[in-house]
Amino acid sequence: MTLQKTIAEAKSTEKMVYSDLIRTGDDETTFFIVKYLNDNKLAVAALSTNYIKEAQKQISFGRRGHVAIVDRTGRAIAHPVAGWVKNMKDMSFLPPVQKMKQGKTGVSRFYTPAMNGDVIAGYTVVSGTGWGVMVPQPFEELEEHARSYQNTALVIIIIGITVAGLISWFFSVLLVGPIHSVVEAIKFDEDGENKFIKPAEITTSYNFISKEAHELINSFNNMGSRLNATTEKLYSKIDFANKEVNAQNIKLKNQASDLKAINEELERLSTTDNLTGLFNRRLFDETLDAEFSFSVRHKEFLSLVMLDIDEFKSVNDKYGHAYGDKVLIDIADILKENIRTSDVAFRIGGEEFTILCRKTDSEMSKRMVENLRKSLEQHEFRFADEVITVTGSFGIITVPGEGFIVDNAESFFRGADKAMYFSKHHGKNRVTHYSDITG
Ligand code: GH3
Ligand code: MG
Ligand code: MG
Repeated sequence: MTLQKTIAEAKSTEKMVYSDLIRTGDDETTFFIVKYLNDNKLAVAALSTNYIKEAQKQISFGRRGHVAIVDRTGRAIAHPVAGWVKNMKDMSFLPPVQKMKQGKTGVSRFYTPAMNGDVIAGYTVVSGTGWGVMVPQPFEELEEHARSYQNTALVIIIIGITVAGLISWFFSVLLVGPIHSVVEAIKFDEDGENKFIKPAEITTSYNFISKEAHELINSFNNMGSRLNATTEKLYSKIDFANKEVNAQNIKLKNQASDLKAINEELERLSTTDNLTGLFNRRLFDETLDAEFSFSVRHKEFLSLVMLDIDEFKSVNDKYGHAYGDKVLIDIADILKENIRTSDVAFRIGGEEFTILCRKTDSEMSKRMVENLRKSLEQHEFRFADEVITVTGSFGIITVPGEGFIVDNAESFFRGADKAMYFSKHHGKNRVTHYSDITG
């Protein structure tokens, strides 16, 4: 605004009006301040911009942050680029200057050739004068600041985490610690003798735990001691019960072993002949079936010997029944002595005996029985000065048969019986093999 325009405005508005920047020398610019006085007089003040330039030079921040001041038309009043000030450069090409000319305040990012780069500037308008003031700082510098703040933020985060850790440790001592000790105390002792809960009394070395935690521990200790007392009672009852059970078990075991012995004896009696101690008829019948089947299945020789004492009735008649019994006992002994360990002798009737011989063919059986016949014949039975001798008639049958077929245990037995009767009918005191009388 030229001086004339300023004066005209001062007259019409009756206010103090600032002129635009006016060049008053090569290196000098001046503002004029005009105030219209009532009696048609003007008061005019000249304001050199030197002090504004000086003030501008004093203000700086960062490395290249500065202040720029423009008049209301956007021309440079004070600026670090001396040429711009000298030439009163119109800085309206800069966005914040345009905003300031509109009387606005704000922040703007823009490119400026003065710094050859992007800057961020805060800008505002000085009221009354219409001057614009802006404080640009290179964007780069701000970024550096931001980065340094980032490091600071990192330090703050670390400190924050540490503080949070300390707080959480404090709370863990205060609250979690006592609860943990209760949980530990209540744990089952897996390796222990028993699986009862036996809580130990909890003691804590922390004096500053919370009142609630103290109460928790006290209540738990009370409960623990009551539980322990009850458990002890339970133990003593269990001990007592265990002793009772053990005593009963021992009794039962004794009874069971008694019973076992009785059973064994019964079993023995049921298969043994009372008089001679040889196996009895019952066991013979069972054994004959089994041995016959086995020999057929495995194609192994099996011989059966039948013995009937000759004229035994006369022994009884002559010396009495008791004497006859003693002779029978001695005959049993003779049988035991003259058979092999693999042979088994039975008393199947009054004075009738059998012998089962495994893996024994006809010839072997004949030899064995002939020896037996001789032993019996030669034996002297002595009782109360009485000496007698007895003989026996023997019959043998052997499977697999030579010249005959027997297909079951019963016909096998009948074969031996038949051979024995052959001996009886042919002079007694002799041995007959079934294969010799068949065919
Ligand atoms: P043999 O056989 O030679 O034809 O004549 P035996 O006299 O032996 O006739 P038999 O076989 O018919 O008679 C058997 C006798 O054996 C009859 C019985 O007095 C006697 N006897 C049977 N069992 C016993 C017993 O357990 N004890 C005694 N002492 N004698 C018995
Ligand atoms: Mg008989
Ligand atoms: Mg007889």
